[in-house]
Amino acid sequence: MSTDVSGKVMCCFCYKIIRLEEDENAMRVRLARLSDLRPKQEMYTHSACLKERLPGGFDVWWE
Ligand SMILES: [Zn+2]
Repeated sequence: MSTDVSGKVMCCFCYKIIRLEEDENAMRVRLARLSDLRPKQEMYTHSACLKERLPGGFDVWWE
């Protein structure tokens, strides 16, 4: 990754520090209104923490 945020950001679901060596698909989530797509907020998540909150069978790019 060009931007190494490992050890500096917290997962928005479990509040643990995200370590890229443990989850190479950890990601940044950018929030924007559909009516105005400029991002208003950024957060970070483990891939597993996001996956477990999605409905079963929801297609995700990292699997
Ligand atoms: Zn997490």
